[in-house]
Amino acid sequence: MDFTARVRGSLLGGAVGDALGWPVEFRRLELIRAEYGPAGLTDLAAADRGGQVTDDTQMTLFTAEGLLRGGRPEDLHAAYRRWFLTQRLPEPLRDPDGWLAAQDFLYASRAPGNACTTGVATDYRPAAPFGQDGPVNPNSKGCGTVMRSAPFGLVGLDPQQAFQQAAVAAQLTHGHPTGYLAAGAFAALIARVAAGTPLRPALDAVLAQVDAQPFGRETGDALRRALRIAAEGPGSAEAVERVGLGWIAEECLAVAVYAALAGADAREALVLSVNHSGDSDSTGAVCGNLVGALYGLDGLPADWCALVEGREVILQVADDLVTAFADGDRTTLDARYPR
Ligand SMILES: [Mg+2]
Repeated sequence: MDFTARVRGSLLGGAVGDALGWPVEFRRLELIRAEYGPAGLTDLAAADRGGQVTDDTQMTLFTAEGLLRGGRPEDLHAAYRRWFLTQRLPEPLRDPDGWLAAQDFLYASRAPGNACTTGVATDYRPAAPFGQDGPVNPNSKGCGTVMRSAPFGLVGLDPQQAFQQAAVAAQLTHGHPTGYLAAGAFAALIARVAAGTPLRPALDAVLAQVDAQPFGRETGDALRRALRIAAEGPGSAEAVERVGLGWIAEECLAVAVYAALAGADAREALVLSVNHSGDSDSTGAVCGNLVGALYGLDGLPADWCALVEGREVILQVADDLVTAFADGDRTTLDARYPR
């Protein structure tokens, strides 16, 4: 499978998981089963919100945009400020800053995380050394770091650089070391899988990266829990809930990893990733990023991909990442992504 298929799969897969999880984000497992049957929500067409995507997909697209518009932490901060504007305005400005901010569907506010909104409202501050509290929201380790960080793994950075850059950018909103280290781990995992490494050896390598970090323990333990529970038997919602509920960064990553390990294909993994009492759209988005990179665009359920809001824009951003970072050609991109 070529790299383009993995980049397209990762971005669109994230949106599919986000859309599948969003109708059940704030519902307990018993209520999900009461509404959709004993197997839970198993079909995006059965969900009542028509393929809508949320802050997870929105912020992921602005992460990609920040990378395309310079890629420094300051550039990511500026990109997240453009996302923040989408949460404050009903529609694009008449003279939007860049092509992404001109997309109407992004101007929907669907339960964005508190640390993300307060964090990007803050002026840019450089990141702290890893292991120390970051300068913004120092106690926050919500999953808003992980759910937006896949693009760092899709731009040809090696896994160490992907880890580093994602963790630095995560500190723009979340200062708890586990909050930003889990984002680094996720980006490194995506980088390895998008380069063609199978999931299990990619996870082992990421665990070694995490264990080498001061304060990497919580993230490493969550990933080891996902591996252990996945090895115990077939996937189930009860097993997912033993891995975690996904509100916090390391649990969101671990639930997504568990679902990818336990599901036989992308559809099974996505269903596992959202049917639990926790933060279903974020665990779905992160799982979708991962299985999309693993199985590629054609490995995702085509019927679900067709339903996802913003599909054309999401695929355009994926192609723009490949053009800029794999092909090294910016000639067609400067108008959409001014630097
Ligand atoms: Mg969300």
